[in-house]
Amino acid sequence: MKKPALLESFSDRSRVFDFVNRPAAGAKPDVRHGTVLYVEDITVSFDGFKALDALTLYVNAGELRCIIGPNGAGKTTMMDVITGKTRPDAGRAWFGQNIDLLTLDEPRVAQAGIGRKFQKPTVFENHTVHENLELAMAGARGVWPVLFARLSGEQAAHIDETLELIGLAERRHTLAGALSHGQKQWLEIGMLLMQEPELLLVDEPVAGMTPQEVERTAELLVRLAGKRSVVVVEHDMEFVRSIARTVTVLHEGRVLAEGSMDKIQNDPKVVEVYLGE
Ligand code: ADP
Ligand code: MG
Repeated sequence: MKKPALLESFSDRSRVFDFVNRPAAGAKPDVRHGTVLYVEDITVSFDGFKALDALTLYVNAGELRCIIGPNGAGKTTMMDVITGKTRPDAGRAWFGQNIDLLTLDEPRVAQAGIGRKFQKPTVFENHTVHENLELAMAGARGVWPVLFARLSGEQAAHIDETLELIGLAERRHTLAGALSHGQKQWLEIGMLLMQEPELLLVDEPVAGMTPQEVERTAELLVRLAGKRSVVVVEHDMEFVRSIARTVTVLHEGRVLAEGSMDKIQNDPKVVEVYLGE
């Protein structure tokens, strides 16, 4: 059935009225069109050099998307734009069809439901795995009230579920400082999950991991998608092959190629860029 014209214009993300654009605190992304992230014509210049050059890409709700590209391709800059750390010179970035990311600062982007995992894990080393998840759930409430407060049944269940998901259930009472590098990465992903983000951005998750840890990280990321959307930026082609559904290749601030891993690996433009490193 065709929608009435007025409704059509209301549901068209790019034409909604300005008052609809500003999400109230706690607004969730509207993904009824199936797209969780819209990046359109984004340009970022540093002293005249274009780190992103009219970059356009879309991520489907529930998708696990890999973004690869040689050093300097603009991968981290793209994440900086999405999370409000860097303002682009031009372009649009929307979270669902209702949240204009370019009007939000970093804390508000996080609040809207985009969690970002940086390369270096930042866990509380002197607290246990379980406490780290409790602290992450509390967000800004402060350390002491959290650790002395009793968890509700629902909160305790959420922590248990996350511990299982990240494979650290047996380590719940271990101090985070005593975990391996890979385990710390998983704990940090768990901490992000405690905030129940709709979209998770993960920057080079397997750098410095053992082969077994790499394998378990691939399984974890695959399990995370579906309920939420996950964008993984990665340099390592082998890793990407083990998890990817759709791969986007960035080069010189633009999309060079996009598609299945097979399609990407047989694309002469991609081969040239990777061999030319
Ligand atoms: P990637 O993450 O794909 O390796 P980046 O997004 O970090 O690439 O960088 C893209 C390009 O932008 C690189 O050439 C980098 O040197 C440049 N760049 C990134 N951040 C800055 C900055 N703050 N000032 C100047 N140049 C920058
Ligand atoms: Mg980078």
